[in-house]
Amino acid sequence: MNRFALALLVLVSTLLNAQSPNKNPNKNEPPILGPHRARSVPKPATANSNDLLYHGGPIIVTPTVQAIFWGSSWGTSPGDKITGMNVFYESEGGTPYAATVNEYTDSTGHQVSSSLTYGGYIVDTTSSPKHPSTSQVLGEVCRRISNPQTNGYYPVYIDHPRKGNYCAYHSWGSCGGVEVQFGFFWKLDGDAGCDPQSTVSGESQGLQALANVSGHELSETRSDPHGDAWYASNGEENADECAWTFGGAYVSFNSSTYAKWKIQGNWSNEANDGFRVTGRTKRMMAPAPTGPATLRPKTASVSPALDAWMGRTKKAPTHSKIALI
Ligand SMILES: [Zn+2]
Repeated sequence: MNRFALALLVLVSTLLNAQSPNKNPNKNEPPILGPHRARSVPKPATANSNDLLYHGGPIIVTPTVQAIFWGSSWGTSPGDKITGMNVFYESEGGTPYAATVNEYTDSTGHQVSSSLTYGGYIVDTTSSPKHPSTSQVLGEVCRRISNPQTNGYYPVYIDHPRKGNYCAYHSWGSCGGVEVQFGFFWKLDGDAGCDPQSTVSGESQGLQALANVSGHELSETRSDPHGDAWYASNGEENADECAWTFGGAYVSFNSSTYAKWKIQGNWSNEANDGFRVTGRTKRMMAPAPTGPATLRPKTASVSPALDAWMGRTKKAPTHSKIALI
């Protein structure tokens, strides 16, 4: 068997075991992508490499962000969460933290950038469901965002405590024919399962928890907005790989107020392998097979055999390239 045939065999067998990042059991609804698992939930095992693989879908070069705070108590007792998250999105762009996602590219050579366009926030004091479905969250986005954008990312913060084993997720869907991205966040006040245990002063615990999971979902939206771009063989996206792994006490944002946040790291293929694997490279490695779209296997694969073929060796994972001050 020659090397190409071996690689193809390994590719097919890996694809049969591949996990999707969509964790929504109802496949008729918008997906639940990259759910940020609570601390007590174990990380899924990887059969071989933790590296993210490119699956042929889009990335977001520069997101346009508007936040939505949905629920009656946002009008009466927001605490520091609205003002704090407003500063978070105002000042995340261009930071060393944002740059931890920049290595990811698509098949046409687009590359994630660390810049972000922020359009402010909307407070909707109508009551939100206690456990909204993904289509209910998308519906709220479509109701409140007057000019939806294809590069839009609309994080939705409800005012009810967590139900389930995840702290947040991201997703996508259509508002009047425009494909948009959105995030979903529970109220995490007093929720030990979703608490980054930050020691940064001047931020409430509830705000610190939202900031950590918001960094997670924004990072995943940039590298895997539709759940078909960059994720590992076990279905984990770049922030999932590093959930609850922090590079230090805090990261710095471009702001004089709320300048420090404790946010987890993001997976970097480059930091772990010492070279950049691009969408183009991956397509050259493993060309997309032809056939009906619904039966078409995903594009890329990494396995011990393929790693050996490429001269790669597995190393202990590095969870972050974050520059800490
Ligand atoms: Zn995630």
